[in-house]
Amino acid sequence: MELNDSIRTIKGIGGKSEKLFNKLGIYTVEELLCFYPREYDIFGKIEPISQAAEGNIVIIHAGLREYPKTMASGGLKITRARFGDASGNITAVWFNMQFVMKMLHMGAHYILRGKVVNRNGFLELHQPKILSRQEYANLAGRMQPVYRLTAGLTGNAVAKAVNIALKETDLSGDFLPADIRKENNLISWKKAVAAIHFPDNKEECIQARRRLVFDEFFIFALALGQLKKVKKSIPSKYIMSPDIKTKQLIQSLPYKLTKAQESAWNDIKEDMLSGIVMNRLVQGDVGSGKTIIAVLALALAAENGFQGAIMVPTEVLAKQHYETFQELLKPLGINTILLTGSMTASQKKKAYAQIENHETDIVIGTHALIQEKVGFHSLGLVVTDEQHRFGVKQREALYSKGSEPHMLVMSATPIPRTLAVILYGELDISVIDVLPEGRLPVKNCVVGTNYRTQAYKFMQQETAAGHQVYIICPMVDESENMEAENVTDYSAMLREKMPPGIRVACLHGKMKPSQKNQIMEDFALHKADILVSTTVIEVGINIPNATVMMIENAERFGLAQLHQLRGRVGRGSAQSYCIFMAGNSSKEVMDRLSVLGNSNDGFYVAEQDLKMRGPGDFFGIRQSGELDFKLADIYQDADVLAQANKAAAKFESKDIIQLCKKYNRLKEKIVPYAGGVLL
Ligand code: ADP
Ligand code: MG
Repeated sequence: MELNDSIRTIKGIGGKSEKLFNKLGIYTVEELLCFYPREYDIFGKIEPISQAAEGNIVIIHAGLREYPKTMASGGLKITRARFGDASGNITAVWFNMQFVMKMLHMGAHYILRGKVVNRNGFLELHQPKILSRQEYANLAGRMQPVYRLTAGLTGNAVAKAVNIALKETDLSGDFLPADIRKENNLISWKKAVAAIHFPDNKEECIQARRRLVFDEFFIFALALGQLKKVKKSIPSKYIMSPDIKTKQLIQSLPYKLTKAQESAWNDIKEDMLSGIVMNRLVQGDVGSGKTIIAVLALALAAENGFQGAIMVPTEVLAKQHYETFQELLKPLGINTILLTGSMTASQKKKAYAQIENHETDIVIGTHALIQEKVGFHSLGLVVTDEQHRFGVKQREALYSKGSEPHMLVMSATPIPRTLAVILYGELDISVIDVLPEGRLPVKNCVVGTNYRTQAYKFMQQETAAGHQVYIICPMVDESENMEAENVTDYSAMLREKMPPGIRVACLHGKMKPSQKNQIMEDFALHKADILVSTTVIEVGINIPNATVMMIENAERFGLAQLHQLRGRVGRGSAQSYCIFMAGNSSKEVMDRLSVLGNSNDGFYVAEQDLKMRGPGDFFGIRQSGELDFKLADIYQDADVLAQANKAAAKFESKDIIQLCKKYNRLKEKIVPYAGGVLL
């Protein structure tokens, strides 16, 4: 079996399961091997029922006490069965798994493993796995891989396929030269791939992960190193002359630019006037006012007769930026258009024509901007906003729409400068490190669910004062997540709880983009008072009239994400509030959330998050989609990043080309990163 063979070559994978694997982005044997577990499940000891504690995964050995019953409820088939051991009884609950009824017999004993959930004061065992003695004996004490799945595909099926692939492929080709491995204390690729899926123990798992993280950073550093060389001091075809319109624009703003904004703008102007292609990152915490910087840069390009494009990660944000840009630029005679995936074919066609004929100066869009059909007349500047939501590849795809245009990248990820210098090696960096004046810092509180009634009262006060409120629920998750506060149910519940005058809207990721846009637009126009939403509003949205955010089940989010979410309030002059509601108020959860309660500083939050996760928690919540890493975490693995960067720096272009020739899998990874300009 070869690494780039189709997964169909694996015994047991037929047409039907192939499609399921494809759904997870797995087409080849190599992709399967690099489909790393999301986490590991460690099978512990059997516990007496009386010791079962809420929130834990426990294993019990118990007899069936009452015959199971299945009932339909809320679109689910719920099966319940009562089990007992010498210490006590517990009810096991299964969702949509009626078949377990047939597996259970009165009086017989079973080993069950499931999560202990508190339901109205009674503990239940949710979705327990039924194990035979033999199965349990085989698994006890071992680390079992847990994979991200899709409906129809079980973890077992993935593990089985991985196992076969490990046995039947030759993994001895290791692209990391032996001296680098030795210098950095890394195990072989072969060993690492096997151990990341099926580690014998934690230490082995850590070693495997370290090696694979190193690889990710190393490849990234190689690609970036090349990109840097290619991009260094390219003479620009889009030379700007001093600006008049941008000066007018700054004059016309209802506020004065902050010192930090001014200095970022000066950096950009200098770049764009210099005759060399700009490659600049503007980094600034949420709410620091990055949008206006993009508007200015794009206006400068436009007044010099060049086109510009800004790419953002969501339709909702594209729409909002479009409105902001139009308002600011129309008076200056600069044309802007919107280009998003949800536009109709004929709307898109019209937009393509306008872009191609230079009837429009500035295009604001989503990923739709990097579609093949989009061709510019004279693209002088590309901007990516919320870069942490894009990969380098997408950024480069936009860049390659022009003929070496100026590039501006904006990110709200609080990356310490030392790290940023490595990660954005090819970019110059401007930092916006102060917030606009007159902003009151967001007041935070971390509370348990018993505070909810009070929170609702508070929301009523705020809406009565003419302000608006966001309530964030965790993502709609069709699988077993019974506790998840489903957005739709939540809004229905809220409508009942709130006085009739309060208008509640709801927004979630499953909606059509056009529907999402409409809801956000209505909310921005104050056609609703409370917006119940999933994290789809996380990035970029700016509605200064919203002063309260409440985040349900805050413990389920990473701290950095919570910080981004919180950034949606505190954008106007009124006092804003953020309520972090913890669904589980264990000390650990409260300690973690209190970091946000105590500080509004993104850098501080990221730093604390890192400290708290510590090196032991090697599957911390991924903080950023920015860099397309599967395992690596730029914060947690900062030391490995530095090592990999150092190792990669020794490679000349010719070495890289040679390596790529020898190892196809390396080539495939490096070339797209460099947007096709490499090799
Ligand atoms: P972000 O950096 O998160 O993208 P935005 O660009 O959306 O922030 O700006 C947030 C809000 O701050 C907007 O309403 C914007 O008009 C306002 N703003 C930007 N710069 C200033 C400033 N210098 N003074 C006052 N308000 C500003
Ligand atoms: Mg923004």
